[in-house]
Amino acid sequence: MGAAMSSDISGSPESRENFSRETSGASYILPREKLGLLLGEIAKESSLFAPVGDSFHRIECAEGISLEGARALFGPKKVFFPDYQEIFRFDAQGRIEDALRAEKRAIFGARACDVRALRMLDRYFGEMDEPFYKTARENTLIVGVTCTESLPSCFCTQFGGLSNAGLDYDIWLTPVDGGFLAESGSEEGKRILASLSLPEADEAHLRAKEELIKRVESGMDWEPIPDELIFSSMRNGLEHPVWREIAERCFACGKCNMICPTCHCYDVRDETDLHGSGVRVRVWDACHLFRYGLVAGDHNFRGKRLARAQYRIYDKFYYPMERYGSFACTGCGRCLDVCNAEIDLRKILRRITEGAE
Ligand code: SF4
Ligand code: SF4
Repeated sequence: MGAAMSSDISGSPESRENFSRETSGASYILPREKLGLLLGEIAKESSLFAPVGDSFHRIECAEGISLEGARALFGPKKVFFPDYQEIFRFDAQGRIEDALRAEKRAIFGARACDVRALRMLDRYFGEMDEPFYKTARENTLIVGVTCTESLPSCFCTQFGGLSNAGLDYDIWLTPVDGGFLAESGSEEGKRILASLSLPEADEAHLRAKEELIKRVESGMDWEPIPDELIFSSMRNGLEHPVWREIAERCFACGKCNMICPTCHCYDVRDETDLHGSGVRVRVWDACHLFRYGLVAGDHNFRGKRLARAQYRIYDKFYYPMERYGSFACTGCGRCLDVCNAEIDLRKILRRITEGAE
């Protein structure tokens, strides 16, 4: 269960693949009426989180889980990296109580973009060997599902699309006639599926999955741009007029940061009472906010909106490529959906790469 986080964060393709577990390859057919059985088997050991409505919630039964359609507005990032995380409690006598707890959990219904985002968080938090993320990751089973539709803002075909190939999961479900094609991606996933006495999937089921992926991907309004072109355009594009244009429109509200499945910035603060007791917490931060770069003496190393708007995009399409050899965007389109200024990452990528060849 859970990914074994590698501390190897060099940019070579070989090391990047260390984050993916070996696919054990067993494929079955899970009839729809047996979905509850699968959930029951997982729930014997783990608390379940699944997309219900627009976000992932702790659930008790299969009712209301969104296993059809596209990704939820809010991804499962909070399960691994909560927006408000207690680190430890302390009192005036200097007693400290560590808040780190291991809880077995399962994410049920993560989409390919959700799981791909975890690979990026693995790199960021793995680099720090951060114990809260690491503990959550190692104790969380991942059940992914293939999208049956795309949203107008989706452009995941730029970053690998809907396929589970190469992703790090335990079980992958794809809706097909009569139920789900259920594939195992780890020994744990294989054990769970084998315990349900399911019929094995055949060629026709695997073909149906490929056809579904092709249909959904071809419905996306996006023609992928070569990675090298994006990277070189970013490298040479610091003075491109698009940055001024978006900075003039951007409200610097930080919503795009908060909703992004790969954004991982945080602040650490102490909340105390008058007697000296309190709690040290970690809360999400956002590079679009004015106070993000505010330091002692009222200095702000990114005080201008232009610098912050530009930085977010460079931190998706330039710095991670330099550092880890991949972009830090999954094409989930969530930042497009929440932006009141209608700032569209796809248009920025088009603009910056136009004529750059
Ligand atoms: S959501 Fe839009 S307006 Fe808000 S900070 Fe992000 S780009 Fe700017
Ligand atoms: S930058 Fe936007 S499209 Fe890319 S992963 Fe973040 S929210 Fe999704």
